[in-house]
Amino acid sequence: MSIEQKLVFYRSQMPENVRLVAVSKTKPNEMVLEAYDAGQRIFGENKVQDLAAKQGLLPSDIQWHFIGHLQRNKVKLIAAFVDTIHAVDSLRLLKEIDKQAKACNRTIKCLMQFHIAEEESKFGLNYEEAVGILKSDEYSGMQNIQISGLMGMATYTNDIEKVRKEFKNLRSYFDSLRRTFFKDKTYFREISMGMSGDYKIAIEEGSTLIRIGTGIFGPRNY
Ligand SMILES: *Cc1c(COP(=O)(O)O)cnc(C)c1O
Repeated sequence: MSIEQKLVFYRSQMPENVRLVAVSKTKPNEMVLEAYDAGQRIFGENKVQDLAAKQGLLPSDIQWHFIGHLQRNKVKLIAAFVDTIHAVDSLRLLKEIDKQAKACNRTIKCLMQFHIAEEESKFGLNYEEAVGILKSDEYSGMQNIQISGLMGMATYTNDIEKVRKEFKNLRSYFDSLRRTFFKDKTYFREISMGMSGDYKIAIEEGSTLIRIGTGIFGPRNY
């Protein structure tokens, strides 16, 4: 199947409120353009240097999402153009994003990354830590970021019920934070969950942003 045919396939699987992030990490610009020509506009990258290089060469109406772990000293390299940062996992990082967005006179959408998988190595917040950020005076003073939702990665496993449970957990954190901190804030609406292997379950459990790499662009060679 061509990239275009794969995009048509994924779109056919997505309810209206779900959007597709085409994860183009490690893939050449020609492949990004192929997806772009097939109508795809949201792309995800997980390395700052790669994202900055691609952004400079590819069409300016692409909405770039940063989906990887972000180091504070690199925020300034993407602050001028990045639409959404999916993996905010500390107040210090959020402060830096706010500062750099302010310097560019713009607002950057941020998702709080939650640790929902059993694997130790994955980054992310727990519920209390997220509440701590949202209750802080520093957060209240931020004017150039917008917390638009949550992001999480399920355990890499064939155990469908385990994955489902982890997605359900993320959904319940989302519902609870929305009730507590984002009442009437319509911008708090994204649940970024689901990748090539588990997007179907993620959609069933309320995902609004699925992040698909391999399923669109094929396997990656590192
Ligand atoms: C690479 C990556 C994806 C895409 O994974 P695939 O299995 O190739 O679809 C999604 N989310 C994050 C955070 C990633 O790093």
